[in-house]
Amino acid sequence: MLPKINIPKYSTTLPISGKVIEYRPYIVKEQNILKYAAQSGEESDIEDAIKQIIGNCSGVDVSDIHPTDFEWLFLKIHACSESNIVEVIYPVEDCAELQCPSYVSGYFDINEVTVIKQDKANPFKSRGNGFIIPVDDNIGMHLKKIVVFDENDYQTLYNALISIYDGDKIFPKSSIDYNEFIDFIDNLPKPVSEQLKQFMEYVGPTIQCNVNGKCDVCGKVFYQQVEGLKDFFV
Ligand SMILES: [Zn+2]
Repeated sequence: MLPKINIPKYSTTLPISGKVIEYRPYIVKEQNILKYAAQSGEESDIEDAIKQIIGNCSGVDVSDIHPTDFEWLFLKIHACSESNIVEVIYPVEDCAELQCPSYVSGYFDINEVTVIKQDKANPFKSRGNGFIIPVDDNIGMHLKKIVVFDENDYQTLYNALISIYDGDKIFPKSSIDYNEFIDFIDNLPKPVSEQLKQFMEYVGPTIQCNVNGKCDVCGKVFYQQVEGLKDFFV
């Protein structure tokens, strides 16, 4: 029998949930997942591949993780698998020479990535891991931010649901039937459904890092702040 290869383990504290997560680097089988997704060129395939890799390498349930924690974990896994330096090509508008391309090659350092907690801009009241969306003076919903958006909006909301409360009475998600939930959502007043929409679109804390680049033609140096994982990998 061939020897079993030891894969190192690392750990990190997720910036939003505060949970300590153990993870390992990705190996050939996961690199292939990413490679095939990149070949397809579809943004959704790449996102699916990243989710699968995060799940494989950390055991974290990606349907149950805050988007910022998700990005953080992916960057950490990427750093231990390949390098903390990520090379990127990004568009620029103001290079001096006419013959300059409209993009430059640059890099960022995963070890210098920071999380901006835009708490002041957050219009929603937080409770535990989630946020409160009031329906009226007594009734409200407790939802968490999620990464995975279903094609069906009801399903997406259901995935984000922690509980529904009525005064002191709390109905945890486990006690809420999906069809009953759809009925509940269908009966919401318009301002509340607008709030829900706003909540789902609200980005919240984001990951930020500095990207350094240089034009290959004229040598002009660029330096910019970038937010969010998609800008880096898709
Ligand atoms: Zn240039």
